[in-house]
Formats: sequence, structure tokens, C-alpha cells
Amino acid sequence: MPVSQKSVLDAVPTQLFVGGQWRASSDGATFDVTDPATGAVLTTIADGTVADGAAALDAAVAAQADWARTAPRDRGEILRAAYELLVERTDTFALLMTLEMGKTLAEARGEVAYGSEFFRWFSEEAVRIGGRYAVAPNGATRLVTMKQPVGPTYMITPWNFPLAMGTRKIGPAIAAGCTMVVKPAHETPLTMLALAALLEEVGVPKGVLNVVTTTHSAALSEPIIRDPRLRKLTFTGSTGVGKVLVEQSAEQLLRLSMELGGNAPFIVFDDADIDAAVDGAMLAKMRNIGEACTAANRFLVQESVAEEFGRKFAARMAALVVGKGTKKGVDVGPLITPKARAGVHELVEDAVAAGARTLTGGAPLPGRGNFYPPTVLVDVPETARVMREEIFGPVAPITTFGTESDALRIANSSEYGLVAYVFTRDNARVIRVSEGLEFGMVGVNQGIVSNPAAPFGGVKQSGFGREGGFEGIEEYLETKYVGIAL
Ligand code: NAD
Repeated sequence: MPVSQKSVLDAVPTQLFVGGQWRASSDGATFDVTDPATGAVLTTIADGTVADGAAALDAAVAAQADWARTAPRDRGEILRAAYELLVERTDTFALLMTLEMGKTLAEARGEVAYGSEFFRWFSEEAVRIGGRYAVAPNGATRLVTMKQPVGPTYMITPWNFPLAMGTRKIGPAIAAGCTMVVKPAHETPLTMLALAALLEEVGVPKGVLNVVTTTHSAALSEPIIRDPRLRKLTFTGSTGVGKVLVEQSAEQLLRLSMELGGNAPFIVFDDADIDAAVDGAMLAKMRNIGEACTAANRFLVQESVAEEFGRKFAARMAALVVGKGTKKGVDVGPLITPKARAGVHELVEDAVAAGARTLTGGAPLPGRGNFYPPTVLVDVPETARVMREEIFGPVAPITTFGTESDALRIANSSEYGLVAYVFTRDNARVIRVSEGLEFGMVGVNQGIVSNPAAPFGGVKQSGFGREGGFEGIEEYLETKYVGIAL
């Protein structure tokens, strides 16, 4: 059946999901979810209270022991079924994401493909949890390690990838045998509610997954994080909020995964295939309207190819069609809020005041919706705010460098360390530069690194912990050592 806005919004749950029950918030409060392309209200959903957060944690704690005892194969099969159903419902989830977040339908479908893969990957990992057996060096005892679920986990997700930032946490937690409370961003809660309904449908037992939507994120989260029954906090969001949560988590010394902000350098050497670099730049910059932690933030181009790269890149950027994500032919949707758009424009104005030139774009588009045009800036001084702060929008500042060591110095001169992109045809340089970059991930001759089979994560102020890959499930497992005397 074809999906329409009405059918998708009529079907999406609007209540909290606690202990396997869909219910209103404890004080009956609700809030509106709006479309960033028009400002129109899409639907109204439950606004969870501190008491609702506590009830969700109670449910997760109550379900933990039984859930940890389920057969790994059963947990894997649930994830596999969730993967298949999610793929089957691609159009529904894609439309929901386009409506509440703004990205185009093509990008939203891409996110369903990417996000669902975490369920498939971790369905396969659920049955590969192992320990080890060793003879102690003195020969007298045996050393056995066992992997056990960490326990009830609190998951806080951002608005930019409403599905994938959830599946990347929920997948490994289910595989490992952890129960969870999920708090999606209030800007984009509908995708997570629809995902909870899907997981209920494929047989996730009551209490294993609880979802609380709220506009009181800080007030609701703090007591959960300080509760001694919680064992782990996993957060994807801004570095500033991440730091506050790390401090709160110190009270119970929680296991932590922090996927925070980025300021990715995109380095183009003079031996690169420039057309391939421009293709990569389009992906690295424009995926998700530039609203990605992995978005290329600073373009560092070797002097002799800077003019060619800038000209070709600006031409591609200028050709993109900006508009409502549900419309055919649109490449770039609106930014998430008026405030986000104002913030992006402030960075552009600051750069221009510091001497940057605008090759394309550079001013908010008139009319309704938070639209900002793809923008390319050249001659941007290293000190401009746009080079130091996460832009989170379709703006590409370009600066030049002379030597390989200059490129590394500029790239590493950020407090962030999530991902860096490098374009070169010199294999020795690939290794040297990859080793020298202070980043958790490096994309070589490609503008996208995200892959469910790879460990995603950052260093420095981009956080710690890894999502996806073999490493992803380890974040939800404790290692217990048992020493056995003979
Ligand atoms: P944000 O930090 O404002 O919000 C993230 C989540 O935290 C939301 O659910 C929000 O409601 C909640 N939150 C906000 N304040 C809180 C508090 N005091 N206590 C508890 N919860 C709180 O970030 P955002 O604007 O939603 O997302 C954008 C940021 O996320 C960017 O910095 C981006 O780089 C980062 N991000 C990182 C990754 C990654 O994997 N490293 C992925 C996506 C986004």
C-alpha cells in the first residue's frame, strides 16, 4: 500500500512506551512535533515527566535478569526479524523522518538502509559472544573470562539521524542482553516511537525496551543517570551536553559511550583525482544537509589545486535544488530550527567579515521554512569561527596549505577528533597521514565512512566508545574473570 503523510501520521504511536504498555504521561501533558520545512504541526505526543522516566527505568530493571538469560539465538532472531520488517517498511520510516527532520526522501531511505543494517549486523553478533580460557603462567590455576550484559542502559539520541542513532545503540544492547530506556530528541521523536512499535511487534519482551519522549530532557535524565540501578549511559549529541552527562554519571561510575561533536577536515593533496575529490566533498559536506557529526567542516586544499577544486565544487553546490524534502527533484531540505539556521548564517557572516569570499550561497533563503543555500567560501582564515566550530549546515569553507606537515598541523588543530577525509593517490602518504591524524576515523578517497561493520567513534572532545563493528557489542558487555584453582 502506498504511504501518505496522513496514513503515516495516523499510525504513529503518540504515547510513551513503558513496560510493554503504551500510556499517556503521568500528568497528561503533551507537546507538538513540527515540520521544519513549513512549521506546521505534524502531531501531538506525550510529554514524559520525571515520574515517567523513573517508571521506565523500573521496567528496564525488572526485565533485566530474565532478558540476560534468554538464548543468544533468540535475541539474534528478534533483531533479524526487526531488520526485515524495517526494510519492508522503508517508505513509512523514510516519510516519517522527512516530515519531522527535513531531509529528502532519498536521504531518509538511505538512513533506513543504513540504520536497519545495525539490526542485521548485531543479529549475527548476538551468537558470537565468547570468553577465553588460559593456563596461568605458574600452571597452577586456570583463567576463564566470561562476557555478561552490562545491565540496564540509558540511551539519549539526537535529532539528525532519528533512526540510525537509535538502532546503533538498541541493536548491540539487544544482542548483548541489556534492557534499556531510550530518550529521543524532542524535535524528532516519531521515528523512535514507530521503531518501538516495530520492536514490540517482532517480540521484544515487555520492559526490555522503554521509550520516553519529553521536552524536559535534563530534568528527566538526571535522576535516571544518578540511579544506582542504572549500569550504562550511551549518548549521541553535542560535546557540551555530553560533558554534563559524564559529570552526572560519575556518581555511579557508569559505563559510558559518548558520540559527540565533530569538526572534520577534508584534505585534498595535489596528487589527488580532483573530480573524485569533488564527488567525495559533495557527500562529506551535503549528506543530511550538512547536519551530521561526520560532515566535512574544513576543506584544506593544497595550493596548486585549490582554484580547480573550489571552482568545480562551487559549481556542483550551486546546482543543488533546495526545498521541502518530500518534493521530487529536491536535493537539500531545511535546517532543523530557525535557531540552527541563524547560527549557520552567523558563522558565514563572521568568515566574510574576516576576509572570506563567497563563491556560492551565503544568505538565508526568503519565505517559510528554515532553508539555507549550499554555500562555498574561499580564502577563509584558519582563525575564523567557521573553521573552529561545528557548522551543522550546508556551508563549506576552503583554505589552502603548502606541505603535508602543514595539512596535518591544521587538521589536528581542533579540539574535536571524530573523522578526517583524505584525497591522494600516493599510498605511502595514505599511511603516513592516517597515522598522523588525531581522529577516530579516516576516510581515504571517499566521502562517507559510516558502516555498520566498522567501529564508529571519536577521540579528544568527540568522545569515546565505538558503535558498530566487533567493537560495538563490547560496549554492552562486562568481562568477568574467574580464577579456578586445580
Ligand atoms: P544535543 O546535545 O542538543 O541533544 C542530544 C540529545 O540530548 C537530545 O535527545 C536532547 O534532547 C538531549 N539533551 C539535551 N540536553 C540534555 C541534558 N541536559 N540532559 C539530558 N539530555 C539532554 O545535540 P543535538 O543538537 O540533538 O545533536 C547535534 C549534535 O550531535 C552535534 O554536535 C553532532 O555532532 C552530534 N552528533 C554526534 C554523532 C556521533 O556519533 N559522534 C552523531 C550524530 C550527532
